[in-house]
Amino acid sequence: MNESKRKYDVVIIGSGPAGLTAGIYAVRAGLKAVVASGDQPGGQLTITAVVENYPGFPNGIGGIKLMMDMQKQVENLGGEIKQGIVKKILKIQKNFGVKLKNNGILETKTVIVATGSKARWLGIEKEKELIGRGVSGCATCDGMFFGDKVVAVTGGGNTACEEAVFLSRFAKKVYLIHRRNELRATKIEQKRVFENKKIEVVWSTEVKELLGDEKLEKIKIVNNKTGKERIIEIDGLFVAIGSDPATKFLTGLVEMEKTGHIKVGVDKKYSTMTSVDGIFGAGDCVNNAYKQGIVAAGMGCKAALDMERWLKE
Ligand code: NAP
Repeated sequence: MNESKRKYDVVIIGSGPAGLTAGIYAVRAGLKAVVASGDQPGGQLTITAVVENYPGFPNGIGGIKLMMDMQKQVENLGGEIKQGIVKKILKIQKNFGVKLKNNGILETKTVIVATGSKARWLGIEKEKELIGRGVSGCATCDGMFFGDKVVAVTGGGNTACEEAVFLSRFAKKVYLIHRRNELRATKIEQKRVFENKKIEVVWSTEVKELLGDEKLEKIKIVNNKTGKERIIEIDGLFVAIGSDPATKFLTGLVEMEKTGHIKVGVDKKYSTMTSVDGIFGAGDCVNNAYKQGIVAAGMGCKAALDMERWLKE
């Protein structure tokens, strides 16, 4: 059937734990639902090697496996998953048109936005050019290319610590370069870093310059307390400095926080509804202090229940 002729009860944008959980609930409520899976199907958890804090997996579970299983769960229940990047949400009389990059439009009565967040980059010269040639945003994806090499991770959160530990399995040395003198990561992740003999933490330091043309060869780092510069030879730099909500495509449509997070609960009756009736938000694209897979899944559940109630009313 022509994409533009299909009419859904709900289009869920995003296929991380929030989107897929919303999909499970929507399908089980007997609604016609589709999940638009975006450019990174499975979301940010797919770049986590082992997820140890999602209940139900006593020995942890691979991030990709967890997300692929959630996706299968939606499909097994009769839900549809569609690969496609959403460009815009249009108003079509009482309904919405979710416009995809290929210009297809999914017509729907409601929308759940669960687009998560996009990784931040340092924004320094040559960074974009050298992606795939020494610069990376994903240790689980690219770590194996750095067997017996020297690499650096920049950032001080859970992602940076996990990436440093993961990389130490392949690399002969890992610098963890952090702009402050304490890590933001949880204690268990910090302990793993401090106990790892291959990891050297470089405190109060920022990456200022990337050197190398064909590929990354060196980085210039600067101690932000002393101003002292240092050049270190490395083969790979992994940027793990957090993320920003992936909500640009909603600009002008729904109310947002200054940070770009979607405001929900505007109508007190539905804690996950945005400022536009019929559009709901869940997961890391909504302002929340937690940013955990399990919390995103819980919000996805709430958004689907709110959406179902709103449709009935
Ligand atoms: P994050 O917690 O926001 O940490 C980002 C880190 O990057 C911070 O240490 C920050 O420094 C640093 N940073 C930010 N901008 C920078 C810049 N321009 N230059 C240099 N450094 C910069 O991000 P995350 O580690 O990606 O984690 C995101 C969320 O997911 C967190 O809530 C985290 O707990 C969660 N997460 C959980 C797990 C897990 O539970 N296993 C795994 C991964 C992520 P400052 O500390 O100085 O601000």
